[in-house]
Amino acid sequence: MLAPPLSPTLATDERVRARIAAGAPVLHLGFGEAGLPVLPGVAERLGAAAGQNGYGPVAGSPAVREAAAGYYERRGLPTAPEQVVVAPGSKALLYALLAVLPGDVVLPRPSWVSYAAQAALAGKRVVDLPIAAQAGGVPDPAALRAVLAPRRGEDGILVLTLPDNPTGTAAPAALIEEVCDVAREHGLLIVCDEIYRDLAYDPDTLRSPAELLPDSTFVTNGLSKSMALGGWRIGFCRLPQGPLGERAAAAVTGVASEVWSSLAAPMQHAAAYVLGEPPEVREHVARSRQLHRLVAVAAHGEVVGAGAICRPPTGAFYLYPDLEPLRPSLAAHGVQTGAQLAAFLLERYDVAVLEGAAFGDDPAALRFRMATSLLYGATDEQRWEALLSDDPVALPWISEALERLGTTLRALG
Ligand code: PLP
Repeated sequence: MLAPPLSPTLATDERVRARIAAGAPVLHLGFGEAGLPVLPGVAERLGAAAGQNGYGPVAGSPAVREAAAGYYERRGLPTAPEQVVVAPGSKALLYALLAVLPGDVVLPRPSWVSYAAQAALAGKRVVDLPIAAQAGGVPDPAALRAVLAPRRGEDGILVLTLPDNPTGTAAPAALIEEVCDVAREHGLLIVCDEIYRDLAYDPDTLRSPAELLPDSTFVTNGLSKSMALGGWRIGFCRLPQGPLGERAAAAVTGVASEVWSSLAAPMQHAAAYVLGEPPEVREHVARSRQLHRLVAVAAHGEVVGAGAICRPPTGAFYLYPDLEPLRPSLAAHGVQTGAQLAAFLLERYDVAVLEGAAFGDDPAALRFRMATSLLYGATDEQRWEALLSDDPVALPWISEALERLGTTLRALG
């Protein structure tokens, strides 16, 4: 039997929520959910479309594909609606792309938990590469060159994440350019996961590989993070223009037609509204971005203040601390690996994080991913207050959580 385990991030969330339900005061930093309420205007659109119960076209309705094309155009990527496919989550589109595109999957590590698992499901070999020093989501260009040298002429799919999960960093334009140069030299296709694109703290400086390699880059996006609609499962992708894009569109919609048929019609209706980016949507995304930034930056202060090494966050709502400097004192508690560290934090301090090994990192490294997005409040009322506040870090429930994080990490040293 093909038996993939439950995704580590979903498994951790279920375990932690059971612990919370049993009364434990868990500081939940283990799950990458955006942690914000639904914008009422979007919920209204969804409700108004509840009567739309047909399957509809596999790639999506003309209205939603046109809206997504406009979304890309406004980001400097001229796009025809025929280049867009919508689906129940970008996860489904990533899987379809990895399954239909030719060659091994070249993967920066650590990287999001599902790429390697999806590659395995698609029967693909994974070639691991270390991430760059400045930022995650892209491989170190020298390591990429070295691994590709003996593979000249072989097909390959390079997966990039911009901005990145688990490191909470957006690769700078110069680094993207360097990686794209190597991909071009070796004829690699690129799948760029831009689900956090609108949560880059400085979105205007973001450089999508699709701008540099328009004929060979596939971009995936969704509304799970920027609009906090993870459970609504709205994903979309942009296929390249030209013959490769056309063949990929046929192949991806072929997979879609056999696996999920189409994105639920009411969701497409809500997505078309969001992707048209009316002022209230822009305002909501801008406020969300600001909240994620302020809390992640404050949490970063606590992490480095406790002696950990950590890249400063530049997008999304993650940090990826390295507690190597604390290894001697952790060893005194019997903590020698990332998994032992995550277990120790949960059992001793009720702090939930996800060890680096879940992202393909060295299991011996004392690294973990922490998401700061579940700190915004226990109720929708608190989350709205956080979202609308100019100084959310000063709100008592957020400042207490950050203080608890700092106290816990300092106790490890
Ligand atoms: N890609 C990355 C990097 C993610 O972090 C996530 C969610 O955690 C996804 C994709 C999944 O997105 P979706 O909800 O669109 O399937």
